[in-house]
Amino acid sequence: MDLGIAGRTAIVCAASKGLGRATAMQLAKEGVNVIISARTKADLEATADEIRKAANVRVEAVACDVTTDEGRAMILKACPNPDIVINNAGGPPPGDFKDFSLDDWRKAVEWNMITPIALIKSTVYGMMDRKWGRILNITSQSVKAPIASLELSNGARAGLTGAVAVMARRAVKYNVTINNILPGPFETDRLRGSTIKAAQQQGIPVEKAMELRKAGVPAGRFGQPEEFGAAAAFMCSEHAGFITGQNLLLDGGIFPGAL
Ligand code: NAP
Repeated sequence: MDLGIAGRTAIVCAASKGLGRATAMQLAKEGVNVIISARTKADLEATADEIRKAANVRVEAVACDVTTDEGRAMILKACPNPDIVINNAGGPPPGDFKDFSLDDWRKAVEWNMITPIALIKSTVYGMMDRKWGRILNITSQSVKAPIASLELSNGARAGLTGAVAVMARRAVKYNVTINNILPGPFETDRLRGSTIKAAQQQGIPVEKAMELRKAGVPAGRFGQPEEFGAAAAFMCSEHAGFITGQNLLLDGGIFPGAL
């Protein structure tokens, strides 16, 4: 299917690795110019080169921390009028409610709620004036079913989901959509890192921890970043203009609810 977005321009945040990288790569293969960001310059430049090799589009790499005002200003300077914005950042650390300080909560809200809201506020009105826009927030399966030990993430991402619900319904009249995409377990550095930690805590080999984690997924496997990128690109496509304010869960069947 031709997604109908060749020639458009996307900001893809936190995109040197994992889900952000896969989304940027897929958009680029659809002919979308991409402005990618991440903090580690060398990794970001390497990803930018890989995307340039795979697709004949403009790729700009902005090394910055998207959770800071300065970082977001650098991204918006490189691309003041994007057609597509993919909001993404690292997730907050795991832990226990009793150990989290108020500063931990403030940081989680800053990273996973305020940061996407700030980028939406800076870009959505221009999109509405131009009568075309797609905004996608990468959140988590934890929005639908909170995950024990990820309370910082559960809270901040649920807050974002509520915060954009009305705007998503206002903007759609102008052919601008705002949606959330909710990853379950995808095979990225983040998943590998958290599984290694779990293996150490339980005193079992990493491979065993991987198998145990997979056993909890009805699909019997982890999602691949490319599958995530394909779904994200569709949500940014010309064809998705009637989909707004939705939460698209990609979890291999983990969430047991019928709705
Ligand atoms: P990943 O493989 O670890 O990649 C994270 C990417 O984000 C890297 O490019 C990293 O580069 C960049 N990044 C992190 N913090 C940043 C910041 N403050 N500013 C700019 N760039 C930043 O992670 P992932 O698995 O793709 O996860 C992406 C998001 O989805 C996270 O919020 C995660 O919690 C959420 N999620 C993932 C899964 C999963 O199974 N993978 C499931 C549910 C939710 P630098 O470190 O160089 O900045």
